[in-house]
Amino acid sequence: MSSEPASHATQRRGVMLILTSPSGAGKSTLSRLLLQKDSAITLSVSATTRLRRPSEVDGTHYHFISAERFDHMRDDGELLEWAEVHGNCYGTPRAPVEKALAEGRDVLFDIDFQGTLQMYERMRADIVSVFILPPTAEALQSRLERRAEDSAQVIRRRLQTACAELLQWKHFDHLLVNDDLDAAYKALDAILTAARTTRMRNPQLGEMAEAMSSGLTASLAPV
Ligand code: ADP
Ligand code: 5GP
Repeated sequence: MSSEPASHATQRRGVMLILTSPSGAGKSTLSRLLLQKDSAITLSVSATTRLRRPSEVDGTHYHFISAERFDHMRDDGELLEWAEVHGNCYGTPRAPVEKALAEGRDVLFDIDFQGTLQMYERMRADIVSVFILPPTAEALQSRLERRAEDSAQVIRRRLQTACAELLQWKHFDHLLVNDDLDAAYKALDAILTAARTTRMRNPQLGEMAEAMSSGLTASLAPV
């Protein structure tokens, strides 16, 4: 146990970490690794009208909802952002994100570039965005095929969408190539660690530095 007096450091502002990429570049895989290894970050579980894949669990990977329910959520202002991607609707439920941020927890978003641009309009200062690239176009295609969760027709549509999505790189804070998975994870972890220590997210540490300075000044005053 340390014999030093307790620090005055208290809660900082939460990081909103957005991961975006063309389908198949590895967002879900990197998200899963980050969530397994870092208990301080929680996933924003999106609502979607797309069909559930065999490996997916309702409420964990997505809230799988009807088009009618989605429209209600959107019209009632229950979504922070929403977009149509590959012919389905996806959106970020507002309440869980606001709750997590108010509690000083970090939130991870796996959303497309349209959603990212909408989030920028409201909360740019809280966001750190990462655009994940596959090492090659061929790797992107073979990853989608190896994932084996979508039909050939769906994979073709996702590759067509990727042509335009790849051009969105310029809107992101960080560009990360997911070639070696371990190296990509380490880079992502480093981005999150650095975001947690920015001055903007830690006003309480500025106050702590001021208080330390005053205390030291007082203790060093001539008697
Ligand atoms: P996204 O969420 O971006 O659509 P996924 O995380 O589902 O992509 O990854 C697509 C496929 O590629 C999955 O089968 C996954 O296991 C595989 N994959 C992810 N990262 C790598 C990597 N660095 N090297 C090889 N395969 C990978
Ligand atoms: P998938 O169907 O492969 O799970 O996701 C398709 C695309 O939708 C991915 O680019 C994913 O990041 C995006 N997406 C998932 N949830 C959301 C969301 O809540 N909002 C937006 N804008 N995009 C999302």
